[in-house]
Order: sequence, then structure tokens, then C-alpha cells
Amino acid sequence: MVDTSPRKPRAAEAALRMLALDLHWTWNHEADLLWQTINPDLWSRTCNPWITLTRTPKAQLWEALQNPDVRNLLKASMERRKYELERSTWFAEKYADAELSEVAYFSMEYMLSEALPIYSGGLGNVAADQLKAASDLGVPVVAVGLLYAQGYFRQVITPAGEQRALYPFNDPDQLPIQPVLTPDGDWFRLSVQTATGEIWLRAWKAVVGRTTLYLLDTNDPSNPPAVRCITTQLYGGDAELRLRQEMVLGIGGWRLLHALGHRPDICHLNEGHAAFAALERARCLSEEEGIPFAQAQVIARAGTVFTTHTAVPAGFDRFPPKLIESHLTFYAEDRLGMPIQDFLALGRLDPANKDEFFNMAYLAVRCSGAVNGVSQLHGAVSRSLFTPLFPRWPQNEVPISHVTNGVHTPTWDSASADELWTQVGGRSRWEGDLEGLGDAVRHLDDDTLWRSRCNSRAEFVHVLGQELSARQCIVGEEGLWCLPAPSLNPEALTIGFARRFATYKRPDLLLYDEERLVRLLRDAHRPVQIVLSGKAHPQDLEGQAMITRWVQFCQRQDVVGKVVFLADYDMALAQKMVQGVDLWLNTPRRPWEASGTSGMKVLVNGGLNLSELDGWWAEAYAPEVGWALGDGLEHAGDPAYDHSDAQELYRLLEEHVLPEFYERDAGGIPRAWVAKMRESMARLTPQFSANRTVRDYTEQFYLTGAQRYRRRLSDHGVSAGTVLDRQNALSADWSGLRIGEVIIPENGGDQKAHAFIHPGTLDPTLLRVELYADAQDGHPRIKSLTQGEHLPDGWIAYTLETELPAPAAECTLRIIPAAEIMSVPLEAPFILWQR
Ligand SMILES: *Cc1c(COP(=O)(O)O)cnc(C)c1O
Repeated sequence: MVDTSPRKPRAAEAALRMLALDLHWTWNHEADLLWQTINPDLWSRTCNPWITLTRTPKAQLWEALQNPDVRNLLKASMERRKYELERSTWFAEKYADAELSEVAYFSMEYMLSEALPIYSGGLGNVAADQLKAASDLGVPVVAVGLLYAQGYFRQVITPAGEQRALYPFNDPDQLPIQPVLTPDGDWFRLSVQTATGEIWLRAWKAVVGRTTLYLLDTNDPSNPPAVRCITTQLYGGDAELRLRQEMVLGIGGWRLLHALGHRPDICHLNEGHAAFAALERARCLSEEEGIPFAQAQVIARAGTVFTTHTAVPAGFDRFPPKLIESHLTFYAEDRLGMPIQDFLALGRLDPANKDEFFNMAYLAVRCSGAVNGVSQLHGAVSRSLFTPLFPRWPQNEVPISHVTNGVHTPTWDSASADELWTQVGGRSRWEGDLEGLGDAVRHLDDDTLWRSRCNSRAEFVHVLGQELSARQCIVGEEGLWCLPAPSLNPEALTIGFARRFATYKRPDLLLYDEERLVRLLRDAHRPVQIVLSGKAHPQDLEGQAMITRWVQFCQRQDVVGKVVFLADYDMALAQKMVQGVDLWLNTPRRPWEASGTSGMKVLVNGGLNLSELDGWWAEAYAPEVGWALGDGLEHAGDPAYDHSDAQELYRLLEEHVLPEFYERDAGGIPRAWVAKMRESMARLTPQFSANRTVRDYTEQFYLTGAQRYRRRLSDHGVSAGTVLDRQNALSADWSGLRIGEVIIPENGGDQKAHAFIHPGTLDPTLLRVELYADAQDGHPRIKSLTQGEHLPDGWIAYTLETELPAPAAECTLRIIPAAEIMSVPLEAPFILWQR
């Protein structure tokens, strides 16, 4: 008898493993056909190469590998991967000689794929999309996060519209990650000494194209149960658990990178959660360089970037002092050599206030050489939020800029959008600087755009009718119960609304006047349908009540089938929604939506936005690209404003959105609508892409930060010592500084402005004397005076050698520290005003 069982194709299996473990498949679909051919059933149900590979019986796999088609597909995929890893990149070409070896990126969550559910929402979205874009662009990033055994909660909805929280287990074996191994092939384990003994961290690795994401967890069997549970849930538990997670992320995370041999120039803190990383970085540096911790902190600071995502003070992570004392005294005193009270001062506005909570964002600012918000508006909001750290500085000089978020376009585009953009921009269009891409899209004709839009909507309606029914049914005490089945119309205007159900997002604004909404939905000539989804934090009862309201509304007989609430909003559902809907709705309470990203995901797919003028939309909106809600001002939670916003929302839908969507020409095309689509795609898609965001971070922060960091590092603490000496001198002697007579000539001419300064015990070379007028149209009006004669009694004359920065009446004199080797005011927030 001849043995016909296929030989074990080990090399092919190893190749498949490599492909399945590279999350590049989350945005590059060239290998999809390969997986589909190997196991069509499993693939169609999961779209997950790792599951398809590891859950296909070996015999079936080996047999598939006998198939020449499969072997050819595999070969092509391996060649594509090789090309991807070896191709030249934007970064390599543009910054071949740059002093930037590596950026370490820290975030509490990453939304890379449904296959790796360690995210909650926006923050994880931003982190993952930037990581993917860094891979596309060749920016050298290594990322660090936590592996949560249960991730963020999953949602089911009961017939009464109540949200139930479920916590399915993330079996690491089923996730597309691998344990980090030592050169001997053993598991890499990291031990961290704490007051109560040693705890062990396990390390995992996710490959994201050219970049790597390391994940830590505490579920090591040698840890006591309380430690093993630290990384069980994302955003679950109390302040103490949160603090312990942030210690693992920051301290453990930096130590992991260090132990694996990484020496990044830049540490990028995505939100304040990870701020301990900056301290651990300084600790490693002080040990390695043999310099005091304080000097190491100065060096590390130059290479640390902090991105704040919070728009209200309540959003900051703050811990009671007792909690910090009990968990961090050992670390501060034994590891950093710093009394715990000094440690606490790093997170306080007033170091002497023993009752003040420890604010992670304050710690992050104090550890950073650059700070930014995530939209233009949020930059301004952040400058106001952090003003207390820079007392008496004008708000526009609070050292916080902005880099507006963007989404990783190839992750969010539909197959048909991908085809359109490939036609006009080529296959590697998201890997370069996007020059000319928007204009190329303008060449697409109305018919092509509209057909693509209609196909995407029809596909979405089809998908909702089928596979997503699982999101609407549960088995309860009364047997099987389903939300009313969606009987959506593939040709009707389809509105999407999906996000966290938090009060400030006002997910119930559309329900403000239910009857008016019903009238809109029942218009027989202009059919409208709404698809909703969203989870409310298990402790947020108000958010949950808004879900209940919607679920009950969906069941009203007069709108049944036209409004659908889908349970368990996640990345997979978000992708389907942003690809399918015509209009994306967003109704936050300005200025609480720091950026918002979901609306950016519809751009590439030809969806339009109707949103409050908040976050990214405040800078993206123009009448040619969509619709804006609100007056662009802040109204706190004023109910009268909610009322007028709701009226305005209905009016926009009734008088603008519907008419434009349904005003068709002889060929059935809504010309005005398509014109908006084209302009929104062309103008906004490149601008609000993670490609642009990562290039901005690289060019504004990473390259310059790395340079400053290397300069401070190069003399082994000498310049850092000088910075410390100056900071100490300024802090000790600033109060002795005096401004004497100031002469500002009224009408210019040949007369110059003069001032007399008494520096007290300070060295005048540490000072900068300026004439200041409030900024005009965003332009600063400041000029420096030159130091002149030394006069009796220690007074010094200063002269302005040029014209006044503004009319004399608007000018005032001020003294600030000279920047030179320091970043002012970030590292020296002193200022003295004439008046
Ligand atoms: C994009 C996205 C978010 C963030 O959306 P916002 O506009 O910031 O509210 C949250 N959750 C999921 C699943 C997403 O895809």
C-alpha cells in the first residue's frame, strides 16, 4: 500500500505562522485569499489568520499545502512580506542621517484588531493607528502596553434595554502574540522588587509590520493572586488597581525595554497613565551613566514627549497621597533615592500641600521636553487646563502645542474604497508624504463615486441582515429574544452613530424630541435609517440609561426596522459602520471631545460628517465638506443650549441633509451630495490620517527631542548638572529680582526703550528682559532688551535696540529665565512682570 498522507511541510507551516503573527494582515489584505483557501469556513467566521491557522486540523492544513494554488499564494505572500520589510521608507529616505534611533511609545490600550481585544476606544485607536502608520512610514517605533486577561467588558443588551457586562477570557494562545523568549528559548520573565516582595511580569510580543508591540501581564503563577489580577481588566476596579496597572506599564514597561537592550532616544507617553516610565527611564540612565538621579532626569526629559488627551480637569488620573505612599515609598526611596514627599511633589501643583492628590498628568508634564494636545482646539483647552503649572504666564505661552489625531486609513477603508484610491493614488499611497493625493481623488467622476457609495451601503445593509444578527439576540428567562430584526433599505440615507455612551457625548440628543425624529423616519419619499452602537462604562449609570432609551425607541412600532441598536460596539463593527453609512453623526458637548476619531474613519469611504464644532471637526469643517452643529462656543451643560442644539440638529437633517441626498438628476445622482463627498475625501482624508499625524510627531518632536536628548547625554551629566544649578539658583533667588524704572517712548522716533533691573543675587546672564504685548491674531508680540551698563547699587540698564513690539500703551516689561540650555518655561516656569 502506498502512503498517500501528505508529508509534514514544516517550512510552509513556519511561513504561515510568521504571516499569521504579523498584524500587518489587519491592513494589508493580500493574503486573505490564502487563508480563505486553507479553511473557508473558519476564515469566513473569524477573518483571523491566527485562528484559521491554529484551529485548522493539521491533516487538513497539510492537505491544503499540497494544493499548488495554496503553495503559490503562500509564496506570493512571503515575497510580499519580504518586500515590505526591505523596501525603502519615507523615514529612511528623508531622514537617512537623522539622530533618531528609536521611539518608545507607551499606552494603556491598543486597538489593533478584534483579534487582540485589549482596548476600550479612542485612546487605543489613536495608539494602534499611529503604530501602524509608523510601520508604513518606517519611523522606528517600539510600543509597550498591557495584556489584559479579560480586556474591556463586552456588552449584551436585555429586552428591557439594559446593558450587561461580560468578561470573556483572552486565552493568550488564541491571540496573535508570542511570549518573549530568551536566547535559550526560555520564557522571558522580569522581576520587580516591591515593598511586599518580588513580583514577576510576563512579556509578550505582537508584530505590527515593521514595528513591535510588547505587552506585559502579571498573571505569572509565582505571583500571589492579588498581583496576578492586576492586569485582568482594562479600566475596571478602583484607584488602587489603576495605580498598580500604571506602575506595571510605566516602571515594568521601561525596564522590559531596557532589559531587551533597547535604548530609545524618545519616550512618548500616550496620556498620563504611563508617566512612571519617564522616572524609570531616568533611573536606568542614572545607573548606567553613574550619575545622580536628578541629573538623569534632566537628560531623560529632553527626550520625553507627553500627549494629553483630557479636555476637563475631572479627566486627569489622580491618586490620594496615601495610596502613592503605600505603593511607591519603596520605589521612591530605595530605587530613586528620593524621599516620598519629594516624589509626591512631582504630581502636585503645590508641593507643600500634603492633602493634594497626585496628578499623573502633572508628573508627565514635569518629566517632558514637549507636551501636546490632540487637536487645535484641544491644544488651547490644554493650555488653559495646565495654566496652574505656569503661574502668571500668559495662557498662549503655556508650553503645550497640538498634533491633531488621524486614523490609519488602510485599516478603515472598505474594499471598494481601496479600489478607488488605488486607481488614483497607486498601491503605496499611504506610505509616503501624501503629496498630491487629495488632488488625484478630485479626478474621480460623480458616477464612479456615487456607484461606490451605493455599493458600500448595500453591502453594509446586507452584512447587518446576516452575520450581525448575533449582536441582537440573547437567550433569557423567556427564551430567545431578539431586537427587532433590521429590515434596512439598501437605498435609504443611512446614518451612523457609534461611540462610548458617555454623558458629554450626548448620545441621546437625537431623541430630544422623539416625535420630530419619528416624523423624519417615517417620511415615505425620503427614507432614513439609523444604525447605533455603543457601550457605557459599567459604573456609568447615566450612560446606560441612554442606551436603554435608544433600545426602547428601536422597538416603537412606528419606526421598527428603521432604527437599529447593535450590541457590543467593537473594532470589527466600527469598520463595517464607517464603510457603509452615508452620514456620521457626532454630538459632543464642546470642548469635551479632545479630538474624536470615528468621524475621520468615514472620510476615505466617502461618508460625510455632521458634527458639533468640537475636537477635530472644529478645524476640519467647511461648508463644502459637511455640516456643523453649534456655534463654536462652550456652554458647559446648559440645558437651554442642549435644546437649541437639538433643534438645530433636526433642522439640518430636515432642510439640508435629506434634501441634498434625495435631490437627484436625470441619471439618479445627487450632484450636491457627491460634490461634498469628493471634497471631503480629497481635502480631509490625507489631513486626518495617522500618516500625517506620525509625520508631524516625527518632524516636530521626535527628531528635535532626540537631538536635545543626545546633546545632554553626550557629556555624561555635565550640562544636566548646569541645568540643575540654574534651576536651583532661579528658584532660590527669583524673589529678589526687581524691576525699576521703565521708559517706553510714546512715539518711537530715535528714542529707545530703556529699563532698569536689579537682579538681586542672580547672575544677570540667566535672565531675559523683554517688552511684551498681548499676542495679536495668534502672533506673539515680544522683543528682548539688551543688557547695558552696570549702575551703582547693583542696578543694570537694559535697552531695546529695535522698534517696540506694539504701541507703547500696550507694552509692559517682564523678566523670564534665559532659554539657552533649558526649555523655558517648561523647565523653569519663572516670570516677573512690571505690572
Ligand atoms: C474609532 C473608535 C472609537 C473612538 O471613536 P470616537 O470618535 O473617539 O468616539 C471608539 N471605539 C471604537 C470601537 C472605534 O472604532
